[in-house]
Amino acid sequence: MKDGFRKARHDVIAALESGNYLHVARGDIEVKNLLAMGEVTAEVLIRVVRSCSGVHHHCSPHHAVPAIDVHVLKRLGWYIKFYFIEPDTWFISEYQIMKIFFEGDTGKALCEQCQALVQMRYVRRDVLFSDSQGQAKDVLVGVCLGCDSVVAIPPQSTPAIREARKQQLKSIEARLPAVYLDVLDAAMHAVSNDAGASLRKLFLGYYFHALAHAQGAAGLPAAHATFSAALEQQLHMRALATPAATRRLSMKVNAHVAQDYLALLQATQMSQTELLKAVIARIQADVLEARDPAVIGDLQRLVHLAI
Ligand SMILES: [Zn+2]
Repeated sequence: MKDGFRKARHDVIAALESGNYLHVARGDIEVKNLLAMGEVTAEVLIRVVRSCSGVHHHCSPHHAVPAIDVHVLKRLGWYIKFYFIEPDTWFISEYQIMKIFFEGDTGKALCEQCQALVQMRYVRRDVLFSDSQGQAKDVLVGVCLGCDSVVAIPPQSTPAIREARKQQLKSIEARLPAVYLDVLDAAMHAVSNDAGASLRKLFLGYYFHALAHAQGAAGLPAAHATFSAALEQQLHMRALATPAATRRLSMKVNAHVAQDYLALLQATQMSQTELLKAVIARIQADVLEARDPAVIGDLQRLVHLAI
């Protein structure tokens, strides 16, 4: 059977490399046929097959036509099943077996906290997202037995995490130095006398969208640095101390605004507070300093529709 493995491995790699292979159909399209489904590339399967040795191979006669050998390769979580009818290679299925973890299962992990290889145990936890935009509740994760921090997320937890992420951001809440909200309100007032504080969401949403979709995020730190420096200079010239007052910004947002906001957090790697401050600095530069007619025109139209 060893020779059977070598020949099967050689022939199946040749078939994958040349693109000359067929998929078995039983009246429908087998969803476990990830190659036919376009969910895995031939290159990936070639790598898996190359890494197989005789111990990963199993061969048995086809249940209906015993003259045909059915080959199965199990390796790296993959299950690849095929046979040959000269001159063709036929794939029955090829899919990844997902290992399901249970509470109490154990394993090894590299813990960033402990900076060491540690023992972990799978437990159910509420896990925060790294940008503090909410959490995924009650998902199965691996935790370090040394420091109790989350070190692993099994694939079975992905759908719950994705759903939690989508549901999470319904409002943007932050506490900013009061001067930032004053500047935002001044810019709104410069655009339209009709603009009340309820329209902050509209202005910020407009900017989240513009910045997220035009690779505008890169310029944000510079815009904020310029703004901070100008602020410092004014305080200095008037011999004033940096004001300590803060004000709360709280806005309910729809899914589109949330998506732009999350994209910006991701692109800039800023905290929420830093991002909001930088966006307001940018609004100040465009509306109050440069008096950009395109931006002001857009914002005026939005205000007219919103009020
Ligand atoms: Zn640890």
